[in-house]
Amino acid sequence: SRRGMILPEKQPKKILYRIILPFTLIFTFTTLVTWLLSSTYISRSLDSNLQEQLERVASVLSQSSFVLNPGILSQMKQVVNGEIIVVDPAGTILRSTLDAPDLQNTLTLLMKSSSAQNRQGLNVTFQQIQYRTVILPLAIPEHGAGHLLLWQTREESDRLNNLIFLVIGGCGLAGITAMTILSFFITRSITSPLEELVQVSQDVAKGDFSKQAWVNTNDEVGLLADSFNQMISRLQEYEKQLLQTGKLAAAGQMAASLAHEIRNPLTSIKMFVQVLQNRLKEQPDNQQMVDSLLTEIERLERIIQQIVDRARPGELQKKWIDVNLVLKDVLDLAAETMQSQQIRIRTTFQDEMVAAFLDPEKIKQVFWNLLLNSKDAMPKGGSLEISTELVGDTKIVIIFSDQGPGLSEDAADSLFQPFFSTKPEGMGLGLSTSRKIAEQHGGTLHLENRKNGGAKAVLELPVEMETVAKI
Ligand code: ADP
Repeated sequence: SRRGMILPEKQPKKILYRIILPFTLIFTFTTLVTWLLSSTYISRSLDSNLQEQLERVASVLSQSSFVLNPGILSQMKQVVNGEIIVVDPAGTILRSTLDAPDLQNTLTLLMKSSSAQNRQGLNVTFQQIQYRTVILPLAIPEHGAGHLLLWQTREESDRLNNLIFLVIGGCGLAGITAMTILSFFITRSITSPLEELVQVSQDVAKGDFSKQAWVNTNDEVGLLADSFNQMISRLQEYEKQLLQTGKLAAAGQMAASLAHEIRNPLTSIKMFVQVLQNRLKEQPDNQQMVDSLLTEIERLERIIQQIVDRARPGELQKKWIDVNLVLKDVLDLAAETMQSQQIRIRTTFQDEMVAAFLDPEKIKQVFWNLLLNSKDAMPKGGSLEISTELVGDTKIVIIFSDQGPGLSEDAADSLFQPFFSTKPEGMGLGLSTSRKIAEQHGGTLHLENRKNGGAKAVLELPVEMETVAKI
């Protein structure tokens, strides 16, 4: 239906979003997962590394005897970057780099709650600070077996973890942004020529063929646009042709009915003038005027006949006829007119009888038209050569060669168009009607320039040599 052809005014940018959205979502999802997994893994391994390091330091410390020396202990605190505490078997503080009154309570609790097995990787919170803790047995000369505790604050490793978390997250975020922007531009470069195409196709759908799609890309969309443009040009041509055909049909129809109306009064006028001609036999002056009147009336009749024939070609009344004879009939009729215009006719006819199955009246009409065109081409007289020749037993070629000006380049293209004429009083129907008749008979008609000036009309009609007997 027509309604189905009309596209909505504005096309939403669906393709653009359909490409960008899923890619961005997938990329965001994978980035998030990678971010979480990698930062967890990195922080875990960092943690266990630090823990191992601390345990190694603690084990070295526990084997040395200087842990009880307060001076060395405070120096070791700097090296280890943590608090060192030494307790006796009961958990009482013997030495400590941390100096706080409630430390003893915390330590007592810690030593009680943690058995020897689960003392690795302990976390202790003291005065709101978290410490990574290592507890190792220690041999103390005066007290027997005590314990060495190494506390390292988690602050720095937590800061490091946070930093790693932020850096990876930031990279991911930058990646998502870059990927979204990039996919936007890539998709745009594909969809914007498409949008141009959509816009133009909407205009074309509305009947505006003047637009062309300007797509300069060297890809499939560019090719699509090229063929689209070609299609528009074709459509434009077809529309023109259609319009032309419609106009011609309407004009032809009108001309035909007009011609029909004119024909009847014209016949009466001709009759009266013929009567007058008889009555004025003795008055040469008037006689001449009446003769001219009759010539003009006959011209009008011919024009009207052409128009009527053109509008209603009718059925062909085919008979077996001798083409040479039909041509001779026409030439006999025209002899007087031709002579009066100083036109000599030279004929070269095919010797044998040329039998063809044709409508003699229609073919006569073609001969008349060609004859009159030759006459019009030589207003000051000249020689007109007419020949008929059999070619290959299947067709007869009839040629009218005049000594007129020939065909101008402009006219050559349009000669056969109805109503094309270069003559002030021409109707421009002779050649188009003649070609139509030739084609109705399975023949052809064309015009060309002769080598030595003048024009040549070539009419080809099919014949059958074996059927001569039929005439
Ligand atoms: P009309 O004779 O009414 O002009 P036609 O269709 O018979 O219409 O001819 C169309 C045009 O073709 C003529 O106006 C003329 O310009 C050109 N033409 C036809 N025959 C000849 C010819 N023999 N020599 C030169 N021009 C010709």
